[in-house]
Amino acid sequence: MSVHTKVYLPDAFLSAMDAIMPASLSRDDFVAACQRPLRRAIRVNTLKISVADFAEQMAQKGWQLETIPWCDTGFWLQRPDEDLPLGNEPEHLLGLFYVQEASSMLPPQALWHCLSEAPAKVLDVAAAPGSKTTQLAALMNNQGLLVANEYSGSRVKVLHANLQRLGVSNCALCHFDGKVFGPALPDTFDAILLDAPCGGEGTIRKDPDALKDWAQSHIDAISEVQQGLIESAFQALKVGGVLVYSTCTLNTQENQGVLAFLAARFGEAVERVSLEGLFDGAEQALTEQGELHIWPQIYDSEGFFVAAVRKLAKVDVPEPSFRLGKFPYTPAKGKDTQAFIQYLKDQFGFDAKLLNLWQRDGDFWHFPEEANDLIGRVRLDRIGIKVAEPAGKEWKLHQDFVLAFGSQCRPLELDSAQAADYLTGKDLAVDGLAAGGERVLSYQGHPIGTAKALKNKLKNRFPRELVKDKLAF
Ligand code: SAM
Repeated sequence: MSVHTKVYLPDAFLSAMDAIMPASLSRDDFVAACQRPLRRAIRVNTLKISVADFAEQMAQKGWQLETIPWCDTGFWLQRPDEDLPLGNEPEHLLGLFYVQEASSMLPPQALWHCLSEAPAKVLDVAAAPGSKTTQLAALMNNQGLLVANEYSGSRVKVLHANLQRLGVSNCALCHFDGKVFGPALPDTFDAILLDAPCGGEGTIRKDPDALKDWAQSHIDAISEVQQGLIESAFQALKVGGVLVYSTCTLNTQENQGVLAFLAARFGEAVERVSLEGLFDGAEQALTEQGELHIWPQIYDSEGFFVAAVRKLAKVDVPEPSFRLGKFPYTPAKGKDTQAFIQYLKDQFGFDAKLLNLWQRDGDFWHFPEEANDLIGRVRLDRIGIKVAEPAGKEWKLHQDFVLAFGSQCRPLELDSAQAADYLTGKDLAVDGLAAGGERVLSYQGHPIGTAKALKNKLKNRFPRELVKDKLAF
């Protein structure tokens, strides 16, 4: 069995863990688990392919998938060429799967487990890079509204890229300190995930240096941030709604302590929801309060913490302290909208009834219907997906739209040599092609982008920022 030789586990950290580790677990097993590299795990993106079809397709490449007990779309993976980065696999590029650590699949599953019906509005307070946002979108089957917030500007870009790749169309992106949601949108969401920024003690198996700067003063500072975020998230929850709080850290101050803060702050409005029945074996990580405190040796995973609460009554909320600018979008109507709808039908056979069209500077967007209620209450940077922009007398489809709806646009299927050329930015020589405007292209039956059909040639319109240097097919 391979071990990380250079895992750094400071003495003060180990002593702190000794003080809180349940009697049924041992320090030796904990240290041994921290020194073992993680098992590779992936989650199948059911927005694009069923688990059965994915398993059958990947079995032909020799992939062996072992089901993760708490997530029916999650698998531990073994494959013949372990050295090839998973991100270079064509099926990754097509958005058929997401590389996600097994325990990180727990919080969205816990949220769904606690809901009695499909939620109309969901908030992901700290969303980037989007492993749980994309999991939530798949659980919602792209229906309803999923607000994904991320404080860090550079991480918002990665979040958007992942949503695009996986074909998510029901998301609104924003970029705030998560503390704004209580004042801005009180009593709004049916379900909220707060996967909080944290000290990351559970990530040592992925990053042997994760604890290089470990210090009690950092835990004090980050737990204060977490308290502010959970207070605000709880205020933004509807009465009857469910909030899941999670971290990838192990100390109790950032975990049980933050839940205790919430209970003390809002008293009887907070109902603890036990995660005991979440999956067979959950009892091994269950705390007295019904949270899951996942030590890495229990399920041979990253360390994690997951807790759920239900809101039983309204709570006090401060007035919002920000002002909103003018909303730059308008509902799409009028002659150019009719012309665009007709263009979608004639050029792609696409029925625009599937879309809720809005316009901005001549560009068309599709908004999730439930976003309407939020307009004017909070600044949403990117709502739904961009559909197209004007290009002369026609329009040019946007990659967001192509990856979410392209399979309904009479795509032209490429073989693997053509797909490799296309994704590396080359035009494609194609005999017998009728020249005639834009075409959606697919590979393995999944949309990958567009090209302009000229005589005997497809002119590449794959977005430049996505062009690859080399590919694994
Ligand atoms: N949920 C993400 C996923 O599964 O891919 C991982 C989220 S990570 C644990 C925490 C995120 O919170 C980081 O991306 C960090 O930039 C962001 N963050 C930090 N402070 C924040 C704040 N005050 N409000 C909102 N997000 C914040």
